[in-house]
Amino acid sequence: MSKILQKSFETESFSHEEAMEILNLPDKELPVLLDIVYSIRKKYKGNTVGIQILTNARSGNCSQNCAYCAQSRDSEANINKYRLVPYEKLLHDGRLAHDRNLSRHCIGLSGIRFADREINEFAEYVRNLKKEVDTHICCSIGFLTLQQAQKLKDAGVNRINHNLNTGRNFYSSICTTHTYDERIANIRMLQGIGFEICCGGIIGLGESKTDIVDMLFEIKNINPESVPINFLIPLKGTALADADTSHLSPEYCLKILCLARLLTPKSDIRCAAGREVYLKGKEKLMFYAVDSIFASGYLTADGQSIDDTIKLVTDAGFQYKILD
Ligand code: SF4
Repeated sequence: MSKILQKSFETESFSHEEAMEILNLPDKELPVLLDIVYSIRKKYKGNTVGIQILTNARSGNCSQNCAYCAQSRDSEANINKYRLVPYEKLLHDGRLAHDRNLSRHCIGLSGIRFADREINEFAEYVRNLKKEVDTHICCSIGFLTLQQAQKLKDAGVNRINHNLNTGRNFYSSICTTHTYDERIANIRMLQGIGFEICCGGIIGLGESKTDIVDMLFEIKNINPESVPINFLIPLKGTALADADTSHLSPEYCLKILCLARLLTPKSDIRCAAGREVYLKGKEKLMFYAVDSIFASGYLTADGQSIDDTIKLVTDAGFQYKILD
């Protein structure tokens, strides 16, 4: 194992089989893995951790059937549903991100396709927001046409989040209303017009280790600026409400985060939803691989407060990064 890790440290190249070995590593070897991964993290990201907050700007009523999602057409989860938050809410969160020196204001909109008038309305929000607080904005916003994407770019959106969620071969087990290739095509179009890309996935959907490795290699090909790794929080009312996540031990989650760092060493590696649940007690160790986390919760699940998140970072001996 240390030979594989040493090689990767020197060449930063990995085969599928070597990646599988990382996920199959005995838990007792995790400290060695964390040490080597930390050297790579330090080389590219220093000792800092960026913190993001997330605004759910449009919630529910989605036409798609993503099994993990409380906003999907098949979900019976008890969530708030609305078309677009009032501008004041976005401004409030933008100011919060700015005033607390957070790295980024992430904005999620449910849905897969948008009418031009909806994009125009949202672009106007972003334009006004950028005038009032100059935060780095990342939007999660389904599939866009080229013209719609350009409109959002011109309005000031810096980065777009579009996750692959799982491996290609497993994708039809979690969603049948759109394809993996449509997701990749959307990301390529966004990259083509100069957007930064945030692209990651969700662990705990019923996928195999091979599916996780497949996903991370697809993400490596995309070479995104940021790779968010979520750990499924099974939500009542969703198709995966009863998903068995008992295998998501802290050690397993840490190995996945390490592999994400090894395969995409220069990207921000973000431990997103589920860190508060699955890494409990060992959260500090994630910073050996991770340089980015959320505060104040996720789209439809609660999380840790900004103050507690900053404390987690500094107590672990890392620096809370002040804006990008
Ligand atoms: S993940 Fe996005 S596309 Fe899928 S159901 Fe949820 S809101 Fe819709």
